[in-house]
Amino acid sequence: MEGLMKGKRGLIMGIANDHSIAWGMAKTLHAHGAELAFTFQGEALGKRVKPLAEQLGVDLVLPCDVEDIASVDATFAVLREKWGKLDFVIHAIGFADKNELKGRYADTSRENFSRTMVISCFSFTEVAKRAAELMTDGGSMITLTFGASERAMPNYNVMGVAKAALEASVRYLASDFGPRGIRVNAISAGPIRTLAGSGIGEARAMFAYMQKHAPLRRGVTLDELGGSALYLLSDLSGGVTGEIHYVDSGYNIVLMPRPDDLKT
Ligand code: NAD
Repeated sequence: MEGLMKGKRGLIMGIANDHSIAWGMAKTLHAHGAELAFTFQGEALGKRVKPLAEQLGVDLVLPCDVEDIASVDATFAVLREKWGKLDFVIHAIGFADKNELKGRYADTSRENFSRTMVISCFSFTEVAKRAAELMTDGGSMITLTFGASERAMPNYNVMGVAKAALEASVRYLASDFGPRGIRVNAISAGPIRTLAGSGIGEARAMFAYMQKHAPLRRGVTLDELGGSALYLLSDLSGGVTGEIHYVDSGYNIVLMPRPDDLKT
């Protein structure tokens, strides 16, 4: 199986540190022969991302804040100049004001709603459009979502609404780019302790609950998310597009916990 990604070049957006989901995916893709470029948001995170890039021998490490479209354009201008062609993209970016990742969804402010939607949802469309222009031999893109897009969960609030819109975008983008052999999918990850994950109110208790009641009775690992990214970004999943692929120890199939589990 090694070498599945040999000859493929991909952009990974959303590494903040070595706990990031995007970092787990980068390691797996690198191990399977992919050539990678990373983006980072702001110089403070750049200081963490650059040493990680070095570990994998990644030379293309570019600043990119998706709130600033000029910065997204600059990233793709460099990719066009250095590589000319792109085979895959990982978009692992999400943000909402921490103060509104608690309490009621009904209290979401207009300003935070717009900002959350632009960063956590629309940025994928803007990235996908630019990436598709470089995917001259077809390609594959993934974004990251969470099951609270489909069901209400305390505190996830506006982020759940943004993830629902993100999942709808995956289907529309898959439909737009499918005729050119470009596939677009999302991985719906189970809870992972990351910077973004810990911003959600009462995250610890909710993550523990989900892990306890998932069919596999545990959380998922960065390596498992890496394996699923490898599947979706490689030719192994050649016939798959527009899917929301759950990697969550099966939690999404549970309507209610087993009565025995509620007692413990
Ligand atoms: P993380 O904090 O490691 O990564 C989030 C990334 O988003 C960071 O690298 C941050 O720099 C980037 N980002 C935020 N605003 C940005 C902006 N304006 N421009 C560019 N980048 C920006 O956390 P993570 O958990 O690895 O998050 C990656 C993705 O996975 C997110 O979309 C998140 O919603 C999703 N996700 C996380 C979990 C979880 O439990 N951690 C579960 C399901 C889905």
